[in-house]
Amino acid sequence: MLLTLEEIFEEFADLDRQDQSLYLLELGDELPELPVVARTDENKVHGCQSQVWLITDIDGADDSARFTIVADSDSNIVRGLIAILEASYNGKTAREILEYDIDAVFHRLNLQQHITPQRRNGLRGMVDRVSKLARMHLVQSGGSEPDAVNRVIGETRSARERMLPGTPGGQPQLDAKDVAVLNAEDIRRQFPVLCQTLPGGSRPIFLDSGASAQKPQSVIDKEREVEEQYFANAHRGTYQFGQRIDEEFEGARTTIAKFLNAPSVDSIVFTPGTTIGLNMIASGWGRRHVQPGDEILTSVMEHHANFVPWQQLAKERGATLKLIPLTSDGRLDMDQLDSVLTRRTRVLAITGMSNMLGTINPIRELVRRAREVGTCVVVDGAQSVPHLPTDVIADDVDFLAFSGHKLYGPTGVGILYGKPERLEEMDPIIFGGHMISEVHIEKSSWSAAPARFEAGTMPIVQAIALGTAVEWVQQTGFASIHQHEQKLTKETIERLQTVPGITIFGPDAAHRGGIITFRIDGIHPEDLAAILDQHGVFARHGHHCTMPLHTYLGVSATTRVSLAAYNTVDDITALMNAIEFALKKLVKR
Ligand code: PLP
Repeated sequence: MLLTLEEIFEEFADLDRQDQSLYLLELGDELPELPVVARTDENKVHGCQSQVWLITDIDGADDSARFTIVADSDSNIVRGLIAILEASYNGKTAREILEYDIDAVFHRLNLQQHITPQRRNGLRGMVDRVSKLARMHLVQSGGSEPDAVNRVIGETRSARERMLPGTPGGQPQLDAKDVAVLNAEDIRRQFPVLCQTLPGGSRPIFLDSGASAQKPQSVIDKEREVEEQYFANAHRGTYQFGQRIDEEFEGARTTIAKFLNAPSVDSIVFTPGTTIGLNMIASGWGRRHVQPGDEILTSVMEHHANFVPWQQLAKERGATLKLIPLTSDGRLDMDQLDSVLTRRTRVLAITGMSNMLGTINPIRELVRRAREVGTCVVVDGAQSVPHLPTDVIADDVDFLAFSGHKLYGPTGVGILYGKPERLEEMDPIIFGGHMISEVHIEKSSWSAAPARFEAGTMPIVQAIALGTAVEWVQQTGFASIHQHEQKLTKETIERLQTVPGITIFGPDAAHRGGIITFRIDGIHPEDLAAILDQHGVFARHGHHCTMPLHTYLGVSATTRVSLAAYNTVDDITALMNAIEFALKKLVKR
């Protein structure tokens, strides 16, 4: 005797996760078998890991006819899910089926949390099949479809199913008066690597967070917790570790989606970092959409990771690479934008914040202008996301990429955000693993986003710890960190300006973030770096992966100081003392 939906709800309510799995198995056990003759290829539901066959029995030809769904699988747990679908749909008309909120049933049963993503795809495949049959019946019986289902059901469902609950993260008011003042010494104490004493007796002064930020204890602890307590591959096993790891991995995705104010968790793709993310966009989206004669617009201030992929794409597709001119203080010259952003511009690839000049680019204004000419906007958020509030809905960007290791998180993990419709237009460029839906000798098909872009084994521990890093930033207070960094940037610039023979590149403190790059007459940046290091001050020298910008500025190398939440005024004093020493030692005056 099959149970009604209410009976299933009741029995499910008090069960823990493992008992729910057992209960699904029991439900499956009781499901009547589908006759072998109905187990045909035609009746097969695609996208399921196990085999599923589904047919409908309709008790009439008009639009008031009621449906009975009969389905079966070679897996008992899937048969349990089928029992739930049958209890939900059976006895309904085609219109009622199409209007029925099956997601609400899944939510109430907490199914999302308890079944693997592959199985979730399979479940969606069954829902899509039922919806398709209901739509066909409506069309054949002369009825019209309800508005809500004129779209592809599977896609609508998946996006809705994984829509962010409640009010999303939203963005902090950076200039609000009541933002708590950050105590950087307290913050510093949360970073074990900064609490050590160097061989010379000083503490490390870390001024290279633009390359990679340090990690707070909570992030290190999280990595350790995963490794020590429940590590397993993600999206693979349904055993206890597998379920826990999936929960943590997907939980991190949700945290990050809220942090960016993304419209749905499905728009957040885990990548190995910014460079790979930008290359995925240039190859996966660009190769499909950039045509010979098109233009790609970028700027000379880009990191190589947001320059070379577009340069190569332009060459490959017969497109032209164009640059937005810069003002003399190193900002995008918005007055000249119209001369380069035209209806021929297929892509605008731009950094949110320059990793050499520190310039903060006006992304919202750029997107607004790009929309007028139908240009897709790709933002390199490697420097901006860790230091500036990012709201992908308000900014309306098409794509955004950033790295975990610049956001107090681990290396080897990053994020590619894409508007859901843009991700639909993007091809995967790496194949295998979780991105696969089906593989046949002749052809293969892919899972929906974000899985489609997450081939192979993911940086699982790192992705989970990136979620913790985002939580750390939020708990510390994004606005407080930002205000602290801006204040310190201003102070650093003011103090550096007193150094004789110094050239500081980039705009004034009001138009930049905490990256300050300079040269001092008579001191090569490499020599300065050695002296800074002697004083326990860690700063970067070289071209910072911005060779076109260095050529444009007429310099071969520079020294870069980049700030983060844990930097203090004492750090800047240490920097200044080391520079004074270098001046005495190296500059013959
Ligand atoms: N874009 C910018 C602006 C950067 O500063 C960096 C790294 O320094 C990157 C891209 C590349 O990031 P990743 O090396 O993490 O891929």
